[in-house]
Amino acid sequence: MSGVLHLVATPIGNLGDITLRALETLKAVDVIACEDTRQTAKLLHHYQIGTPMVSLHEHNERTRTPGLIEQLRAGQSIALVSDGGTPLISDPGWWLIHRAIEEQIPVRWIPGPTALIGGLVLSGLPMERFVFEGFLPTKSGQRRRRLETLKNEGRTIVLYESPHRLLRTLHEIRNTLGDLSMACARELTKMFEEVCRGCVSELIAHFERHPPRGEFVIVLSPQSIVHSP
Ligand code: SAM
Repeated sequence: MSGVLHLVATPIGNLGDITLRALETLKAVDVIACEDTRQTAKLLHHYQIGTPMVSLHEHNERTRTPGLIEQLRAGQSIALVSDGGTPLISDPGWWLIHRAIEEQIPVRWIPGPTALIGGLVLSGLPMERFVFEGFLPTKSGQRRRRLETLKNEGRTIVLYESPHRLLRTLHEIRNTLGDLSMACARELTKMFEEVCRGCVSELIAHFERHPPRGEFVIVLSPQSIVHSP
């Protein structure tokens, strides 16, 4: 009988944000497939978990997957984790889960943190309907085209962004989509957690005074809502 592939969410900053099921699963599986074994080692060390790790990142995912599928078919169980948050959400693992499903290997989800939900619920923007766009492409033409597809979007938009591209992205958002209401959630669950809310111009002014540091979730209001000061 096949083993089980567990998709295990891990903390995005605060080591306390891990579920009992996640800890039990990380202890019980035969191997943990990690985006970066050094990062996951800190979590395992904190919770005194000695399960063997193997790396699975964007550069080795395709070559590593056949061996992991063989282990699963042989009855071993595997936990997939990323450096933080929910694996597969802007993180590696899609090839592994895709192959596991093809092979009819059971896949289970061990829920936990994901930054996009934290940013969304703290934004104060409408959240009945939202769309997650992940990271914008890095090449400027592709970024512009992606942002243009969001014109007339009627749902709240959630994006991930790195600190060194944040200001550039905010300028591009204002140029393409206008001076929307928005929020930037920074360093969620960490010591310097902060949520800045306002129109795009106000957030640009804020981050010009306070250069962006840490990890960011950008949340944009639906196009139908204009910012009222
Ligand atoms: N799998 C992760 C998840 O479930 O949220 C996302 C991984 S993605 C490679 C990393 C991006 O997520 C960061 O660049 C940032 O945009 C966002 N992020 C992760 N942790 C965060 C945090 N503590 N605060 C704000 N944003 C965070």
